[in-house]
Amino acid sequence: MLDTVASFDRIGEENAFAVLARATALAATGRDVVNLGIGQPDFKTPAHIVEAAVKALRDGHHGYTPAVGILPLREAVTADLHARFGVSVSPEEVMIMPGGKPTMFMSILMFGQPGVDILYPDPGFPIYRSMIEFTGARPVPVPIREENGFAFSAEETLGLITPQTRLLIVNSPANPTGGVTPKAEVDKLVAGLAKWPNVAVMSDEIYDHMLYDGETHVCLLTYPEIRDRLILLNGWSKTYAMTGWRLGYAVWPGKLYDNARKLAVNLYSCVNAATQYAGIAALTGPQDATVAMVEEFDRRRKIVVDGLNKLPGVSCATPKGAFYAFPNVSRTGWKAKPLAAALLEETGVALIGGPDFGVCGEGYVRLSYAASTEEIETALGRMGDFLARHPKA
Ligand code: PLP
Repeated sequence: MLDTVASFDRIGEENAFAVLARATALAATGRDVVNLGIGQPDFKTPAHIVEAAVKALRDGHHGYTPAVGILPLREAVTADLHARFGVSVSPEEVMIMPGGKPTMFMSILMFGQPGVDILYPDPGFPIYRSMIEFTGARPVPVPIREENGFAFSAEETLGLITPQTRLLIVNSPANPTGGVTPKAEVDKLVAGLAKWPNVAVMSDEIYDHMLYDGETHVCLLTYPEIRDRLILLNGWSKTYAMTGWRLGYAVWPGKLYDNARKLAVNLYSCVNAATQYAGIAALTGPQDATVAMVEEFDRRRKIVVDGLNKLPGVSCATPKGAFYAFPNVSRTGWKAKPLAAALLEETGVALIGGPDFGVCGEGYVRLSYAASTEEIETALGRMGDFLARHPKA
């Protein structure tokens, strides 16, 4: 009787939340659990940002805001984009969103329907595929390969575009691999897209501050050739350790902006007002907490990669961005998901099997190193003992 429309049979989810729930349940029984599964900074939001939200509440910002977000916050976003990438974006193109996810939800909804192809990275953030399937469009995975440094290949991506393709999703720095696509490759992709003027691009740049080894971020807004069909997804969740605040932004081209505004009006009216004031403080205030956080991730990254490479049958490429390591575990003889499940049940180490990010993730697991050095070392020790106890290779 309560059957809903068929598209709900196709919507997926994010297994990181299921792993988090299982890890929490195990911890509640007294088990010592080390959670390297969830993708969020283990830092608190910087105090001046919290204070700005408290002040906004005390100042009486309790009502609805415009659906697209308050102007000072949209201006702060444009100033930040200009300062970091030299791009001119008008506040009329910027929309404040309740996190990064709603931008992918809305953009996939705007293009996805039966008969349409949408390209997305595999392995990649699981919600891309979930939403594509929900709309009835055909999900076309773009393989992200270890031998390519987990960067996307422009040639391979362009080779998958057909007259049915309406949207291409790209993500660098990437989840789950930590891969960063070099500028030369992005240049090639943008040049090749000239042949496909009907393909919109959604660039997920949520990890744009999390780069190592002197890498600089390549923002797709810096390519005027595709500005009229580029959707930029970004937000505060990772950069300012604000995952629970639900604050993001999108830059929408042309009439997509109005589509998105109407979706917001229909769905959630506006983003929490006090949170928007916190967002202004984040962008306009001191950036030292973010810099220190990224330095700390960099230090842990080296510990994780060194430790993983010492485990039997495991090899780990050095990630250049985000806060994930994506070791190749195929030579352990274990399939990735059973390995992740057994590690959690037997040793209390929570990580995510690569196939949860797409079929090309088989043979890999994802570890988030947004955890203390002590936790990382404990996890590595337990993984080593486990693999020694259960040799399959
Ligand atoms: N995009 C990528 C690649 C992510 O990894 C995440 C979160 O893990 C998001 C978007 C979603 O961010 P938010 O929590 O702001 O919705």
